Amino acid sequence: MSDNKLEALKKYFGYDTFRPQQAEIIDTVMDEKDCLVLMPTGGGKSVCFQIPAILRPGLTIVISPLIALMKDQVEALRGNGVNAAFLNSTLSGAEQDQIMWQAKVGELKLLYIAPERLFSGNTFEFLREWNVSLFAIDESHCISSWGHDFRPEYRQLKHIKQRFPNVPIIALTATADRVTRRDILKQLNIEHAKTYVASFDRPNLHLSVLPGRKRLQQIQSFISKHESQSGIIYCLSRKGTETVAASLQNAGFKAEYYHAGLAADKRSKVQEKFLRDDIQIIVATIAFGMGIDKSNVRWVIHYNLPSNVESFYQEIGRAGRDGSPSDTVLFYSYMDIITRQDMINNSDQSAEQKELLHAKLNRMKQYAEADICRRRILLSYFNEAVERDCGNCDVCQNPRTRFDATIVAQKALSGIARTDEKIAMGMLVDILRGSRNRNVLQHGYDRLPTFGVGNELRNEEWVEYIGQMLNSGVMDIAYDEAHSFKLNPASRQILKGERKVELVKFIPLNERKAKEEESFPKEKAKQEIIKDALFERLRLLRKQMADALGVPPYVVFTDATLSEMAQKKPVSEAQMKAISGIADERFRRYGETFIKEIVAFAKENTKPGTRIARGLTFVETLELYKQGYSMKVIAEKRGLNPVTIISHLIKLKEEGNDIDLMSLLDKKAYETIIKAAQEIQIAKNDPLKPLFEMLNEQFDYGQIRLALAIWEEKQR
Ligand code: ADP
Ligand code: ZN
Repeated sequence: MSDNKLEALKKYFGYDTFRPQQAEIIDTVMDEKDCLVLMPTGGGKSVCFQIPAILRPGLTIVISPLIALMKDQVEALRGNGVNAAFLNSTLSGAEQDQIMWQAKVGELKLLYIAPERLFSGNTFEFLREWNVSLFAIDESHCISSWGHDFRPEYRQLKHIKQRFPNVPIIALTATADRVTRRDILKQLNIEHAKTYVASFDRPNLHLSVLPGRKRLQQIQSFISKHESQSGIIYCLSRKGTETVAASLQNAGFKAEYYHAGLAADKRSKVQEKFLRDDIQIIVATIAFGMGIDKSNVRWVIHYNLPSNVESFYQEIGRAGRDGSPSDTVLFYSYMDIITRQDMINNSDQSAEQKELLHAKLNRMKQYAEADICRRRILLSYFNEAVERDCGNCDVCQNPRTRFDATIVAQKALSGIARTDEKIAMGMLVDILRGSRNRNVLQHGYDRLPTFGVGNELRNEEWVEYIGQMLNSGVMDIAYDEAHSFKLNPASRQILKGERKVELVKFIPLNERKAKEEESFPKEKAKQEIIKDALFERLRLLRKQMADALGVPPYVVFTDATLSEMAQKKPVSEAQMKAISGIADERFRRYGETFIKEIVAFAKENTKPGTRIARGLTFVETLELYKQGYSMKVIAEKRGLNPVTIISHLIKLKEEGNDIDLMSLLDKKAYETIIKAAQEIQIAKNDPLKPLFEMLNEQFDYGQIRLALAIWEEKQR
C-alpha cells in the first residue's frame, strides 16, 4: 500500500517524496480511521485527503467554506488528471444536476461543497446513494466557537458521523489552539480521532523587522528589488491602504487597495486581478486574505504592527505557500505600540478583555523588538520547542550586541526632567541633538544645559534608543498628554547613577546584511526562485494559458515548478516530468507547449558548447525523426555522423520518446549481433571493440549499439 501512495504522489502531483506527516496521515485515512490534521498554510494538507480519495473506491466529499476557491482547487485537480467537481451557488441549476448525476453514477473522485449547500434541499439525503468513502472537512476550526472564525453553518456537520458512522472523516485546519482542537473533535463526533500536528515552522519565510521610518520609501526600494513578484501590504486603517496604494501607483507600480469598506463586487474584482497576476501588489486591511489560495505570493509587508502574534503569523503565512523562499517585513516604531495600546484602551471591551488584549500585544512587541532569533520567538508562541537559530531572519543575519547605555539614558532622562516632563519624541531628539528649529527656540530650550549633549548620535539612533528605553520601562509615556515622556522611579535611580541601563546597539540600515548574503543556509537556497530571461518568457506563456482557461496562473504551474523548468530547460517528456510538480496529466496539457517555448528560446540564445545547446541537438534530431526522415538523411541534414544520430535516438528513446528503434535495423543484423554479444557476454555500456572484432567488422558501431539498446529494452 505504501508504494501505491508514493506512486500516486508522483503520477498525479509530480512530487517524489512526502512532506513530514503526510504519509502517516494518508495511511490512517486509508485504514478508514478518523483524524484531525493541523498544518500551517502551505504545509500540504490537500494531498492528505486527495491521495486517499484517488486510491479508494467511491467518492470523497470535501467540505469547504470558501466558495470562491472551489473552482481553482477543482481546476488544479483536473490539471492533475483527477476527476473532481464542485457544487455551489455559482453554478446554474442544470450544471448542478449534471454534477449530482456524475456523483451518483460514480464518475467523480472528489466533490467540493459548502456546508450550507450540503444541508440545503435533499443533497444530504442523496449522499446515501453516492457511495461516499471519505469526508474531508477543510477549515475545520470554523465549527468551533473557540476558534477565530466560527461559522454557524458548520455546526450541522455533526450529522455526518451520525448518518455515516462507517465513513472516515478527516478534519483539517491551519489554526487551532488546544481548546479549539478538542472542540472540533467533539462537534464532529470523532472524539477518538488521532490528531496530527505538523510543525508550524515555515522555513522558507524570511523574517525581518525594519525601523518604522520613511516606510513608503523603504517599501518602494523593496518592491523595486522584487520586480514582478506578487506581494501584500497590510495596513492598520482603510485610509492607510488608500494612501499607500496611491503612492505606489504614482511611483509606477501595479498596486490596488482592498478593505471592507469597498463594495463586494469591487472587492472580488481586485482579489481576482491579484490572483491572476494582473496586479502585482495588494494594499489591504486584515479584511483581505481569508481564503486566498495564491501560492506565489512572494512577500508580505506589515506597514503597521498587528495586534497579536496569531494574526501576524496567519498574514505572513500567505507568502510562499509553494515552498519557495519569500520575504516578510514588519515595520515597527514605538509609535505603533502606542497606537495599538490606545486602541485597546479606548475600546468598549471589559477590563478583563482589555488585559488579555494588552498581553497579546505585548507578545507581538517582543517579536518586533527581539534580539534573539525571531523564528524562535514565533514558534515558542505556538508552544513549539526550537533547538537552533534559524539563520533565515534578520537577527540571525545581524546578531545584536548590547552595550552599557547608562550615559545615553541619563542624557535623555535629564532632557525630560529639564523640560518639566512636557515634551514628546520629536522635541526631545531636537534638544539632545542641538537643533535650533523654531519650536526649540520658541520655548527657549536652546538655553538648557542638555541642549546638544547628544549630537554624537544621529537622529534615527536617538529615536531607536529612546524607543528601547520606553519599552524597557526606563521611563513612561502619557498617552493622554500628547504622548509626553514622564519620569518614573527607575528613571530617577538612573539619573542618580544608582542603576545601569543596557540597550541593543543600533545597526544602520545600509549596514545590515541582506538575506542573500552568506548566512542564508545553502540547502534552503537551492529552491531559490531564479528569475532570468527564460523564466520571464515561461511566466508570460503561463499567464496566457491561465487566462485562456480562466484560472490563476499558479493553477497551471507553481512558481517553484516554473523556476526549476527555467533552470533545467527540459526538452523531452522525460526531462519535463522529472521537474517537481509535473505529472502525467499536467504534461499532457502543457508539456509540449512549454518545450516549444524552451526550444525557441534556446535557438535564439544558443552559444556553442553550453548546456542548452546539447539538449537542443537532441531536439533537432527528434524533430527530423518525427518528420519521418531516415537515419541517413537525418545525419546528412544535420551534418553529423550517423553513429551520433543513433546515439541521439537511443537516448531519446530512453527518455520516453516514441521511437521505433527496430525500424532502424535489419532483423537479421539484430539477431546476429545479439547472438555474438551473448556469447562473449557484452552489454550496452561495455567497450564494444571485442564485439566489433568478433563480428568480423561486418557491422558498424552504430548498428551494434542499436542492437544492444533494443535487446536491453526487450529485457525490461
Ligand atoms: P495547504 O492546504 O496546507 O495550505 P496545499 O495543500 O495547498 O497547502 O499545498 C501547498 C503547496 O505544496 C501546493 O503547491 C502543493 O502542491 C505542494 N505540496 C504538497 N505536498 C507536497 C509534497 N509532498 N512535495 C512537494 N510539494 C508538495
Ligand atoms: Zn533566526
